[in-house]
Amino acid sequence: MSRAISPLTTERVVGGVPVSPFESLAACAGRILADVRNGVGGFAIAINAEKVITCGRDRNVHATIQRATLRYPDGAGVVVAMRLKGVRSVRVAGADLWLEVLRQARGQPVSIAIIGARADVLDATRRRLESDFPDAIVAVARNGYEGTRDIEALTEELAVAKPDLVFVALGSPRQELLIEKFRVVHPTGFYMGLGGSFDIYSGVKKRAPLWMQRRGLEWLFRFLAEPSRAARETKRLRFLARLVLGRL
Ligand code: UDP
Repeated sequence: MSRAISPLTTERVVGGVPVSPFESLAACAGRILADVRNGVGGFAIAINAEKVITCGRDRNVHATIQRATLRYPDGAGVVVAMRLKGVRSVRVAGADLWLEVLRQARGQPVSIAIIGARADVLDATRRRLESDFPDAIVAVARNGYEGTRDIEALTEELAVAKPDLVFVALGSPRQELLIEKFRVVHPTGFYMGLGGSFDIYSGVKKRAPLWMQRRGLEWLFRFLAEPSRAARETKRLRFLARLVLGRL
């Protein structure tokens, strides 16, 4: 007998982390944009196998993730775990989500901050954003190296500029921990951690082909492109083992 699947409304707890299901990328972006437009702000975190395992070991990261206002299923394994817990969801890739939010925001000005990546990658990201989304005004742009060395100065800049959307692409968990600091001084902003998304958007790194994305194999593409990520893959194996053993 097939398992009953509940409607797409309730969070499911995966390895101690509550995750919201979504029927589409557009629905997830729409929810974020609503919070941006009504000025309540927020903090969206991409949940994947690596983050679930990190949460089990690092109380600080776990607490940060719990305090986010939206946790979405960025990993294929998380989508499978949710399905086993009785809820359907699409996979919402963080690399797509921020661009879909900007697409939906077209027609009305929105101010943004872009923080992270190499200086040349950040410049290329800024240029492409200004061409793709003329309504998006880049109020703050700081690279993830010398540009983020002085966190106090950056925090101050955000407090003054008060951008509607703050995109932080520094890798996890650094970006999430920093976002918590930024939210203290600018709570009405909406924050998203983007990992390596600026590298992809600027064209410096290739994204997995669509067929791999659709089959949940984006992680394999990244692993083959960057074998130095091998240590991180052990977390994915741990997640898989817990999934198979029903311990998520
Ligand atoms: N990065 C940065 N400052 C640092 C280390 C990394 O800005 O000190 C950037 C890096 O250039 C890359 C991103 O952070 O653009 C991390 O990408 P990764 O693919 O590791 O992130 P993930 O999506 O796996 O969290």
